[in-house]
Amino acid sequence: MQQIVDDIAAEMLSRPDRGKVATYIPQLACVDPAHFGISVVMEDGTSYNAGDATTPFSIQSISKMFTLTMALGKMGDAVWKRVGREPSGDPFNSIVQLEVEHGRPRNPFINAGAIAIADAIMMGHEPKETLAEILQFMRFLSDDDSVYIDEKVARSEQLTGDRNASLAHFMASFGHFKNPVDKVLGVYFHHCSLAMTCHQLAKAGAFLVSDGTSQLINSKVVGPQRARRINSLMLLCGHYDGSGEFAFRVGLPGKSGVGGGILAVAPGKASIAVWSPGLDVVGNSHLGTLALEQLAEKTGWSVFAK
Ligand code: GLU
Repeated sequence: MQQIVDDIAAEMLSRPDRGKVATYIPQLACVDPAHFGISVVMEDGTSYNAGDATTPFSIQSISKMFTLTMALGKMGDAVWKRVGREPSGDPFNSIVQLEVEHGRPRNPFINAGAIAIADAIMMGHEPKETLAEILQFMRFLSDDDSVYIDEKVARSEQLTGDRNASLAHFMASFGHFKNPVDKVLGVYFHHCSLAMTCHQLAKAGAFLVSDGTSQLINSKVVGPQRARRINSLMLLCGHYDGSGEFAFRVGLPGKSGVGGGILAVAPGKASIAVWSPGLDVVGNSHLGTLALEQLAEKTGWSVFAK
């Protein structure tokens, strides 16, 4: 496995086609597109890292899978009153479907859905308390207390977050929100600004490899049915309007973020995190996707393989 990740990293680091870094969040535009990192954490906790696997980056929308997990822990299936489970087929920040569906986002991974989830997990608490809880959860899952929230990125998002603010206000206009919109947005922008390395992220995803119990931290995080459901949502909705393409090419549940990271899960085998800041046209890491495609090919880990 070390040879496989070394080969993939060497190839990705040498490629000239890297995609374009996100610029709509000014702080993300400062990131050097030359980075590439990969971390594979096997079911038993053994890990294989290559490239920039220990450099922290902005995990952005990958955080949405973890806040969904927290919301399910707090409210169980009542979560599905707030968000649906259907792929959107629209860009991550689209407002169009919200009107048709009366302010209920199609899934928890588009921006509107994740903002609704942020409202759900606050449960009347202040943003600071909710963020402390999210940070503690991420540190627990990754077994690493150095995970942090990058305030600069959060501020940058807040300053340019008009679209997200409009999604939030639009949903609130249907009477769905239980907390003030500005506080919910504060939580959302900050959890998107979590900074983690590929290695930390792959460790944090380990519970989805083995039916909800992370062997790495020896803890049951969710039950088997919930783990399967989160994986299925990632497969169908984890890559914006490029989710079909990702399933077609890689064949693994995964969640991407505009910081260029992707967390992918090969059930029963491994949790994998890749990072390369350059994005394709729909906002998924260009080389990250290619690296996962190669890894799935070399290992036979596609969930559709025999
Ligand atoms: N914080 C980003 C936004 O709200 C997340 C986007 C993403 O990674 O998809 O625009």
